[in-house]
Amino acid sequence: MRRCFKCKEKAQVYLPQHRLAMCKDHYIEWFEGRVEKTIKEFKMFSKLDKVLVAVSGGKDSLSLWQSLVKLGYDADGFYINLGIGEYSQQSFILATEFSKKLGKTLYTISLKDEIMPIPDIKKYDNRPACSVCGTLKRYYMNKFAKDNGYRIIATGHNLDDESAVLFSNTLNWSIDYLKRQYPVLPEEDGFIKKVKPLCKISEKESAMYAVLSGIEYIEEECPFSEGATSIDYKIFLSNLEEKSPGTKLRFYSEFLRKMYPILKQTEEKPTLNSCKICGEPTTGEICSVCNLKQKLKSKVEV
Ligand code: SF4
Ligand code: ZN
Ligand code: ZN
Repeated sequence: MRRCFKCKEKAQVYLPQHRLAMCKDHYIEWFEGRVEKTIKEFKMFSKLDKVLVAVSGGKDSLSLWQSLVKLGYDADGFYINLGIGEYSQQSFILATEFSKKLGKTLYTISLKDEIMPIPDIKKYDNRPACSVCGTLKRYYMNKFAKDNGYRIIATGHNLDDESAVLFSNTLNWSIDYLKRQYPVLPEEDGFIKKVKPLCKISEKESAMYAVLSGIEYIEEECPFSEGATSIDYKIFLSNLEEKSPGTKLRFYSEFLRKMYPILKQTEEKPTLNSCKICGEPTTGEICSVCNLKQKLKSKVEV
């Protein structure tokens, strides 16, 4: 029987990549400590900043939000109802209930009111749902944070997400994406600072935190996530991790330590303008969301 490395009680969690066995309370403490360490390591924000957490109702965003509040950060939530049937209905209920339990504000907007629900957009736009959805989430998060006095947006991207994206970008030698693959994107040209405090925490670790803390989160995956290539990369990396614990963390951390600084030296920043319609930053004259709105309007009117 494994025993907690701190209190010697029976361990409930064993993390092979860290060679650590922990009881419930010490695991929760370890997890929150790791979030705090990452925030400090990458100078993400301080206790004086107003942070807006992108909340989806999943284990990562809810675990992140709870950790930040317990650590004493000023963190409110922001939820976008994507209008994806049962998945959105359930995640909305769970996110709302959780905000009440936490005693923090959850702001919500709905794509139905702003533009159109994702499944309807899919009928008129050939791009993969996740690509459109990602663009819309980034746009509304940025705009909402700016309009409401938040200087930081924190998202629940975990180590599995980050290492899968890194793997994909490396396989394709997508240098421009690699140059921007850092857990902090600074505030610039109309974009709010964006941070990923769970970037060194695996999906399993965040699920264990949620379960052991009694957080109720949406367990089903979004129906559009099925078949995404990133899932294959996650499975591939998880198989490697199984054989050699610590692979994901090493792959990601060593990229940040050794490769990112070299790539960053050659980063060329695009010139950004303000969208002529909504004022949000864009490389063209009209931003991609206003463009999409116009396109949808013309299709619906036909
Ligand atoms: Fe949006 Fe794709 Fe995530 Fe579903 S899986 S919430 S469509 S990004
Ligand atoms: Zn213990
Ligand atoms: Zn616009």
